[in-house]
Amino acid sequence: MVRALLIRQSCIQEFGPLVTLATLDHIDIAIVGAGVVGLAIARSLAQAGREVWVLEAAGMVGSETSSRNSEVIHAGIYYPQGSLKARLCTEGRPRLYRYCSDRGIAHRAIGKLIVATNEGEAAILSGIRQAAIANGVTDLEIINKQRIETLEPAVRAIAGLYSPSTGIIDSHALMQAYQADAEAAGATVVCRTPVIGGALDGKGLVLGTGGNTPMALRCRMLINAAGLGAPALAGSIAGFPSGKIPPSYLCKGSYFSLSQANPFHHLVYPVPEPGGLGVHLTLDLGGQARFGPDVEWVETIDYAVDPARAERFYPAIRRYWPDLREGALVPAYSGIRPKITGPTMPAADFRIDGRNFHGVPQIINLFGIESPGLTASLAIADYVSSLVLGV
Ligand SMILES: Cc1cc2nc3c(=O)[nH]c(=O)nc-3n(C[C@H](O)[C@H](O)[C@H](O)COP(=O)(O)OP(=O)(O)OC[C@H]3O[C@@H](n4cnc5c(N)ncnc54)[C@H](O)[C@@H]3O)c2cc1C
Repeated sequence: MVRALLIRQSCIQEFGPLVTLATLDHIDIAIVGAGVVGLAIARSLAQAGREVWVLEAAGMVGSETSSRNSEVIHAGIYYPQGSLKARLCTEGRPRLYRYCSDRGIAHRAIGKLIVATNEGEAAILSGIRQAAIANGVTDLEIINKQRIETLEPAVRAIAGLYSPSTGIIDSHALMQAYQADAEAAGATVVCRTPVIGGALDGKGLVLGTGGNTPMALRCRMLINAAGLGAPALAGSIAGFPSGKIPPSYLCKGSYFSLSQANPFHHLVYPVPEPGGLGVHLTLDLGGQARFGPDVEWVETIDYAVDPARAERFYPAIRRYWPDLREGALVPAYSGIRPKITGPTMPAADFRIDGRNFHGVPQIINLFGIESPGLTASLAIADYVSSLVLGV
C-alpha cells in the first residue's frame, strides 16, 4: 500500500499544480524522467491500470530535450529500414496527428520540401524516396523546379521532394495532455526529485532520491526515461550489469531565428549531407522561421548559443535561399541530442532495453532517444508498455 504525504505546490503556472513527495515506501512502477517520452509511457501504463509514479529532477516537466527541439512531426524518411526509429516514427506519426486532433493540441501538417541545388544532389532524391518507401512512407513526391517555385517562390532549386505528411506541433501542449491523461488514470508526477542511485534486490529495487526531501523508495519496476541522464542513471543502480549500458555522447544543435520577413510556408531542407540533415528551415505554429539545428559535439551541457556559429549558417542557407540578408540570423536556443555513438561512428538506433537484452526483469532502459522521439512518443510508450505487461 502506498503511503504518501503530498505537498501541493502552486508555483508552476505552465503545467499546473505539482506534487512534492515527502515519504513513500513502496510503489509499483517508477518512471524516471518527465519528458515527452516518460510522460507518454506514464499515460500508457496508467491507462492499462498500473500504479505509476514519474520522478523528475527539474522543477517542471519537459524542460530538457523535449522543449529544446524543432517541434517537427517527422514522416520517417531517413531512418534505416527495420530500425526502431523507422518503425516507431511511422507508427507514431499518424497516431500523433489523431491524438492532436482529438485533444485540440495545436499542430499543422504543413509539409516539407527537400531541395536539390545541383545535378549531383538531384540524383540523390530518388534514393531518398526509395528509402522512405521501404519505411512505409509512400506519399513523397519528386517535384520539378516549376513546382518548387509555386510552393516556395523564394527557394532556388532545380528539383526536390515534397513530403505532405511532415508537420509541426506544440510540444508543450502535447506534454500537458500526456500528463493530464496519465494523472486522470491515477499516475502521479513528482518534480524536484532527482534519482541519485539505487540497488537491485530480490523483490524489486530501491531508489535513492535527492532534492529537498531525500528518501529511499522501493519499487517493483524502474523505467529509465531520463534522456541525457539515462546512461548515468543506469550506471548508478548497484547490481545492474555495466556492460549493458552504452557510452554517452552529447551532440548540441543550435538554432538561429530569422529577423527579416519570413517568405516560407513549408519546412525546407537541403539534400542531406554525410553526418547530418544540413542547415534547414523550420517554422513554428506562430509562423516564426528558424534555422538549425547544427551539429556540435560537446563535453558538458551548456545551452547557450554562440552567435559566431551563424557564420556557418549563412553560406549553407544561401545555397537554396540567396535572399537571406546579412545580420538576419539571431541566436535562438539549443538542444542536446542524447547520442550513444560518437562523431565518427554510424548513428545508432533507439535502444529500449528490457530483460531479454540485459537479464534484469525490474528495469527497462531507454537510451539514445534523439529525433524522432517526439514524433514517435505514443509508439515508444506502447512498445515499453508491451514489455512491462508482457503482451
Ligand atoms: C536539437 C534537437 C531537435 C529535435 N527535433 C525533433 C523534432 O523535430 N521532432 C522529433 O520527433 N524529435 C526531435 N528531437 C528529439 C526529441 O526532442 C527527443 O527524442 C525527446 O524530447 C526525448 O524525450 P525524453 O523524454 O526521452 O527526454 P527529455 O525530454 O530529456 O526528458 C528526460 C527527463 O529526465 C530528467 N532526468 C534526467 N536524469 C534524471 C534523474 N536522475 N532523476 C530524475 N529525473 C531525471 C530530465 O530532467 C528530463 O526532464 C530533437 C532533439 C534535439 C536535441
